[in-house]
Amino acid sequence: MNHHPRSAFGAAPSMGRHQRTGEAGSAVSAWSDPRSIALALFVAVLAALPLLPLPEFWITQLNYIGLYAIVSLGLVLLTGVGGLTSFGQAAFVGIGAYASAYLTTTYGASPWLGLLLGLALTAAVALVLGWVTLRMSGHYLPLATIAWCLALYYTMGNLDALGKYDGLLGVPAIEIGDFSFREGRRIYYLIWGTALVAALAIIHLLDSRPGRVMRALNANRGGGVTMPEAMGASTFRYKVVMFLTAALLASLSGWLFAHLQRTVNPSPFGLKLGIEYLFMAVVGGVGSVWGAFTGAAVVKLIEDQLQVLLPRLLGTSGNYEMIVFGVMLVMVLKFAPKGLWPLFDALLPARRRPRDWAGAPPMEQRPKPKRGEVLLDVRELRKAFGGLVAVNDVSFTIRAGEIVGLIGPNGAGKSTTFGLISGLLPLTSGDVSLRGERISGLPSREVAQRGLSRTFQHAKLVPEMTVLENVALGGYLRSHSGTLRAMLRLDRAEERRALKEAEAQLQRIGLGEQMHELAGNLALGPQRLVEIARSLAGDPSLLLLDEPAAGLRHKEKQALAAVLRQLKASGLSLLLVEHDMDFVMSLTDRIVVMEFGTKLIEGTPAEVQASPAVRAAYLGTEH
Ligand code: ADP
Ligand code: MG
Repeated sequence: MNHHPRSAFGAAPSMGRHQRTGEAGSAVSAWSDPRSIALALFVAVLAALPLLPLPEFWITQLNYIGLYAIVSLGLVLLTGVGGLTSFGQAAFVGIGAYASAYLTTTYGASPWLGLLLGLALTAAVALVLGWVTLRMSGHYLPLATIAWCLALYYTMGNLDALGKYDGLLGVPAIEIGDFSFREGRRIYYLIWGTALVAALAIIHLLDSRPGRVMRALNANRGGGVTMPEAMGASTFRYKVVMFLTAALLASLSGWLFAHLQRTVNPSPFGLKLGIEYLFMAVVGGVGSVWGAFTGAAVVKLIEDQLQVLLPRLLGTSGNYEMIVFGVMLVMVLKFAPKGLWPLFDALLPARRRPRDWAGAPPMEQRPKPKRGEVLLDVRELRKAFGGLVAVNDVSFTIRAGEIVGLIGPNGAGKSTTFGLISGLLPLTSGDVSLRGERISGLPSREVAQRGLSRTFQHAKLVPEMTVLENVALGGYLRSHSGTLRAMLRLDRAEERRALKEAEAQLQRIGLGEQMHELAGNLALGPQRLVEIARSLAGDPSLLLLDEPAAGLRHKEKQALAAVLRQLKASGLSLLLVEHDMDFVMSLTDRIVVMEFGTKLIEGTPAEVQASPAVRAAYLGTEH
């Protein structure tokens, strides 16, 4: 993992520095946290600006920056956190703007009703579009966003009811009772209030149960769904939620925009703006909430300067600022690939997360199987990759309280067997049952729900999350807070239980000291241990470990063996794939040996060691 470690919500990008995420647990600690003080100062300055004798021009600028920031915030979540690129956010801005403009001008309805209509319409469109496009991978999603942005733009421009390309005039101002947000200095508070509340909601979301899944989606580029699925999360559902959230933020910005401008026409909702929103997020720092604000401010201010300056310099008029933006984007990507915000952010002290979970009640545990009961029953398991039979009718059982080893030379089919049992790979034929219930054919998240947890041969941690957060992700199925609860900070009691459990599991494997470290900063050995702790946080009845000792030093191996023995003593059952013979022999009750996809022999460590067939298999094929 060579990712530069950084937090998804704007914490220190510096190596080795203890990064402490999250909000303060109490008012007292909030006020002793330099980051909270910085935020309070920022809010105070923002609130004071319209009261000062600033020219109207600057108030207008600030209003637009706020509107852009709201849209970019959605992109921070969607693109920065989720890794889903959208060029089409401007279309959702358009839906929010047009819905309210149409309702208020044609029917004389209240802008507030317009807001509801806009959000409902946006949600409907986003759900349909998300349902269709979020299953696409690679380049298809960005292409699809371009397509829908164009389609919605021409729809807005061609509908008679929406005034075609002339748009709708005479959009009323937003009012609360007799108070009108007609003036720029008043709607300013509505815009910036919305932007800041949205920012806080996203910050809260990222530091929560659903947020950990969202941040995991982008962890291993291209393969970011396997691990969260194995932790029990439906990654598709979270992608839809992120997409919907980003669309609703864009729509909200569109509503404010329509009632600020008091007129709408299609031009601000076209692909050019769609690209510009993404541009803002990337330049500002798509990995952090405040990057959205930085990007919106920088782009808006530079754009205005350029629009005045460039025609003068060049002697002709035109949209030359886009060319300069192109160059700017390349420079930012080259010299500050994480965007501009992290440069400011590095100047702020790291956030402290108070350890406020010590007194939380423990999480509930699933009923434990009785010692000796058949836990896992694998029958005639078979997997063919085209002509290659990687697993050839393999059968074995694991009883509660046992440690079973699965060994064999490289390419014998061990990892494939793991994938089949844990629901990662569809099987060609055969049957797997866990505690008497058939699990073959179930997706990995449902296998996890039934009490089977696994680690990966190549550790899959989220490098920019802390060790503690990574482990807490493993407890996903044991808590229930959803996106809205998390945004509103109603999940804290449950979250404290989850973090307490995560810390306890880290203590158990001896990594309690490192809980605030970014996972990406850990060496390979400790990363494997964190994976085990993450699995344990899910309270499994059976733990599948794929080569846990690989890459560990001798001392670390001994520590790992001690941990595994202790897990066994506590009633947990383990299936262990391992290359290190001594490690397997000293730990396991029984060993299944595979070669070329077939089960060669099954027996006690002594029997396996004495077997000539096993010796031949290892001597014949291994390095
Ligand atoms: P082990 O973990 O025992 O080293 P694997 O289960 O990774 O072995 O692989 C078993 C065999 O299946 C190997 O020959 C490997 O090349 C093949 N294999 C594994 N995964 C795939 C796949 N996704 N597609 C095609 N062949 C695969
Ligand atoms: Mg393997």
